[in-house]
Amino acid sequence: MMFQLETPFEYLILLMTLFTIIGLRYVGLSFLFDYYFYRFNRKKYLSKIVEESPLKPGQKISEIFYSLGTSLIFALAFTHMVWLWKNNKTLVYLDWKEYGPLYLPLSLVAVMFVHETYYYWLHRWMHWPAVFNLVHRVHHSSHRPSPWTSFSFHPIESVLQVLIFYFIVALIPLHPVIILIYLLLMTISSLINHLNIEIFPLKFVESRWGKFFIGATHHSLHHRFYKTNLGLYFTFWDSWCSTENTQYTQVLMKKVNAQ
Ligand SMILES: [Zn+2]
Ligand SMILES: [Zn+2]
Repeated sequence: MMFQLETPFEYLILLMTLFTIIGLRYVGLSFLFDYYFYRFNRKKYLSKIVEESPLKPGQKISEIFYSLGTSLIFALAFTHMVWLWKNNKTLVYLDWKEYGPLYLPLSLVAVMFVHETYYYWLHRWMHWPAVFNLVHRVHHSSHRPSPWTSFSFHPIESVLQVLIFYFIVALIPLHPVIILIYLLLMTISSLINHLNIEIFPLKFVESRWGKFFIGATHHSLHHRFYKTNLGLYFTFWDSWCSTENTQYTQVLMKKVNAQ
């Protein structure tokens, strides 16, 4: 290992490295999604745009500013979690055989379910008027979402969002490869959900399996109507708690059928 992670200086280097990786991941992937869907393939996807009102002046600059703040908060928390791991205060394990190969995908599913549940109820709480103004208004100031909105949160919301990872590494044994796969899935999902272009094909969204997943239509409707469509990856909490937008299926089918 390059660093023994024993001195504060080594942790400072780790913090700067993580901030750079998380920040560049945001800027690089947001740019790629924006370029591919809105410029390179503009004609193909024009009719699949969900929210048609224009971006606000200065919206992208504000989103990049808040997203870099979120990147710093996540880098600080992950650096702290590495310190916790070094001091045996997490259940992160290095030998993949320790719980058997079947446990690896199961642990990934468990993390998704725990995160989904935490996010759905946190999100409902953040829409209480007093909390909303302080914590969640920044994210909703992007009335028309874009890939650049995917990490744009008020610092308090960023802290609340990263808190669940402390519970996850303390309660669920996880291999570092599963953690990396999960973070990648989380990033791609957030980009797709904020893309504001429905990219899932008709066959998929019509299927029972497809209706289970949140996509751009589902989340753009949340940015427009606030009180409905509060989930993160899946629609089951919205479905169980009757918070799914009633227009969702019609809007979705219109966008998917559009050419
Ligand atoms: Zn959003
Ligand atoms: Zn919201």
